[in-house]
Amino acid sequence: MEEKNLAPETEAKETVSKNFIEMEIEKDLADGVYDHVQTRFPPEPNGYLHIGHAKSILLNYGLAQKYGGKFNMRFDDTNPTKEKIEFVESIKADVQWLGADFEDRLFFASNYFDKMYECAVFLIKKGKAFVCDLSAEEIRQYRGDFTTPGKESPYRNRSVEENLKLFTEMKEGKYQDGEKVLRAKIDMASANINMRDPVIYRVAHMSHHNTGDKWCIYPMYDFAHPIEDAIEHITHSICTLEFEDHRPLYDWVVRECEFENPPRQIEFAKLYLTNVVTGKRYIKKLVEDGIVDGWDDPRLVSIAALRRRGYTPESIKMFVDLVGVSKANSSVDYAMLEYCIREDLKLKKSRMMAILDPVKLVIDNYPEDEMEELVVPNNLENEELGSRVVPFGKELYIEREDFMEEPPKKYFRLFPGNEVRLFGAYFVTCTSYEKDEDGRVTVVHCTYDPETKSGSGFTGRKVKGTIHWVAAKTAKEVECRLYENIVDEEKGKLNADGTLNLNPNSLTILPSCFVEPALADVKAYDSFQFMRNGYFCVDCKDSTPEKPVFNRIVSLKSSFRLPK
Ligand code: ATP
Ligand code: MG
Repeated sequence: MEEKNLAPETEAKETVSKNFIEMEIEKDLADGVYDHVQTRFPPEPNGYLHIGHAKSILLNYGLAQKYGGKFNMRFDDTNPTKEKIEFVESIKADVQWLGADFEDRLFFASNYFDKMYECAVFLIKKGKAFVCDLSAEEIRQYRGDFTTPGKESPYRNRSVEENLKLFTEMKEGKYQDGEKVLRAKIDMASANINMRDPVIYRVAHMSHHNTGDKWCIYPMYDFAHPIEDAIEHITHSICTLEFEDHRPLYDWVVRECEFENPPRQIEFAKLYLTNVVTGKRYIKKLVEDGIVDGWDDPRLVSIAALRRRGYTPESIKMFVDLVGVSKANSSVDYAMLEYCIREDLKLKKSRMMAILDPVKLVIDNYPEDEMEELVVPNNLENEELGSRVVPFGKELYIEREDFMEEPPKKYFRLFPGNEVRLFGAYFVTCTSYEKDEDGRVTVVHCTYDPETKSGSGFTGRKVKGTIHWVAAKTAKEVECRLYENIVDEEKGKLNADGTLNLNPNSLTILPSCFVEPALADVKAYDSFQFMRNGYFCVDCKDSTPEKPVFNRIVSLKSSFRLPK
């Protein structure tokens, strides 16, 4: 059984063609440009990681693995305004959870400030950088635009000696923020605006979470990043498409700083998902307005949220592999992520009985105090998961929707006079039902046929419907939370005023569900299939031993089909 299920997948993997990054890497190795592969994941510690970052992490880690190379974790913390230590811890945990093993290679870009400063001095000495007194506004004006070439700064031709003196003074705190900057001396007429003497160091009298008040000048991203890569002997610096126009500057920095065997930058398209919210600004507002209960609310797609919802690292990896690597921006349907978690859990998880919307079923001809212990398989498609004991008795809970007073055609579940199979137990025939004043069904009555016990080899007659159940006496009451997407792109993601057009049904809380006793002692992150109702995972924040809380990860069925 297992083999049959695994074989096609393995086959598919082998025939998948190489992505364009792999082809570039193989060419570099063949040409002797590099003799090893070293990649990195360089987040700014300014927020929680999301599914897009997961793609970058698994891509970089996967490439290092594939080519027998190494993968570094590096916090790009050169910007003193935004970094927060709490994010460092959450990011590390997320990367480790995804299985991207950086071993002992955890780095902080701020630890390279001395080396970056040396590089700046080196460029000044080469006549490749100058201190400029223009204001930010003037620099912008001088820069020109796509159609107008830039104008050279009047400070561009300062002598090396003067530049060295002024840059030292910048470092020593002689100047206010914005009073002076260090700029690369490249080409004000370049067609690429990034090459028009970009600013590489600025004065900022700010404390840094790592270096404290040691520095009052900080390197700009486009200068710092290539140096960080070069210091760590990164070979392939993989980033997203918006940096494509910055690549000439990246190359300029590593070349002019004269790094040996410098890294090269390769860009790929960001991963976007439909029907989810990823923008930090929006999530912050959802958290502040109490619409979601934090960055890890199961309706979000931060890695913490996916983990809390019950997604596995394997399912995220499958998703990222299916999406592939491309040079063109596009959005992927959230349903594809759901497909991946279903595929991953299908053979791994036990299929339990849980009643989400309970109504009592009383078997009138079953002995009053008797309880039977029935043995049911945990997963009909995977025998290796074994079996378990499920208690059975006179009073059961069934799903409200599994009974109808007046059934439509092709309804094969319980209705007066109809016989169904109780999964793993007996055939029962509905005899009557009770209603309350509001006309709501409160109890369904039936009789059972002892001859029909599951596993007894009974072949006397067949029934068309099988329903699941939980014995009332031994049931454990739990809370279940069902989710829908928080926004629906077909209905418009944003309102006219730019706020999110929220789906009012994104969360349904079912406070009184019943599960079989085998689920009484669950712990955070345990997950199961609830027969017919979907995959569920124990909530890591709100679940207690007295009242477990289950998040629905995903329902069982979908119209989603894998793209060809
Ligand atoms: P965001 O603003 O959404 O948090 P970011 O690019 O500012 O994204 P960084 O911390 O700077 O986040 O990025 C860390 C790494 O993750 C970078 O290499 C970046 O290119 C990559 N990355 C970020 N978003 C995505 C995405 N949607 N798809 C793939 N890679 C991404
Ligand atoms: Mg960022």
